[in-house]
Amino acid sequence: MKVELLSYTPNPELLVEEAARTCYSKKPGSKIIKKITSKKASKLIKKLVKIGHHSILEHAVFTFSVEGVSRACTHQLVRHRIASYSQQSQRYVSLGNSNFVVPPTIRKDQKTSEIFNRIVEEARNAYKKLLELGIPEEDARYIIPQAVQTNIVVTMNARELLHFFKLRCCMRAQWEIRALAWRMLSLVKKVAPTIFENAGPPCISEGICPEEEFPCKLREVLKRGGKSGNTAKTDNSNNRS
Ligand SMILES: Cc1cc2nc3c(=O)[nH]c(=O)nc-3n(C[C@H](O)[C@H](O)[C@H](O)COP(=O)(O)OP(=O)(O)OC[C@H]3O[C@@H](n4cnc5c(N)ncnc54)[C@H](O)[C@@H]3O)c2cc1C
Repeated sequence: MKVELLSYTPNPELLVEEAARTCYSKKPGSKIIKKITSKKASKLIKKLVKIGHHSILEHAVFTFSVEGVSRACTHQLVRHRIASYSQQSQRYVSLGNSNFVVPPTIRKDQKTSEIFNRIVEEARNAYKKLLELGIPEEDARYIIPQAVQTNIVVTMNARELLHFFKLRCCMRAQWEIRALAWRMLSLVKKVAPTIFENAGPPCISEGICPEEEFPCKLREVLKRGGKSGNTAKTDNSNNRS
């Protein structure tokens, strides 16, 4: 998978700070922004993110290009409604030469890889045959597996991103969307480090776990005082969805 931050609100944290200060000032936002230094911005944003005054975060938006993920992954992604999406069309773009995402659990074993690859190849050939027989792309695509790769552009504001990271960086999320969420998080952290300082699953962002009854490798790592990153990004056991 390839994930790029295509565009984002210029100076996202200054803008959020300006919006926040408008709530508590007689001055309009245009006058407030001139007085804000980045240091001041960090302090107030930290406080407001902590107490849950999250509507100010909606002013900062981030647009990502997500390439080479499966349709199974984007189906989960688009369940997040406070966002905008533009996805490669399976009606206008032929799937005849598409690539497929092979889950690591299948890829690591020769027998399971063979089963997977055989079915994918059969589906690809059947798809091409249907097109030759005059079936339009919009109908031939019905036989294509969910593993088929797709590209999507997604725009979310900072508030929705925090929510998305809470659900999808969690070890309970499925491995592919979890990998996507961690990549998106690392990109936005570079341009809005204060807003996303504690972003991630609830065990990181809030120090609590709503999934206590399910043992999780990430929680074990955190309990031992270790770093969470690699476990959460790469482990593909112990998930659902
Ligand atoms: C581990 C995991 C397992 C899952 N398993 C399943 C499953 O088995 N089946 C399934 O169907 N889905 C499943 N989902 C998807 C899940 O139910 C949500 O649809 C998805 O995570 C989007 O989250 P959301 O609705 O909170 O957020 P968003 O759509 O991102 O919305 C953000 C927030 O806005 C508010 N909001 C948005 N729309 C409304 C609305 N119409 N009314 C009121 N408030 C609203 C809510 O507070 C919401 O949390 C799973 C998700 C996870 C993370």
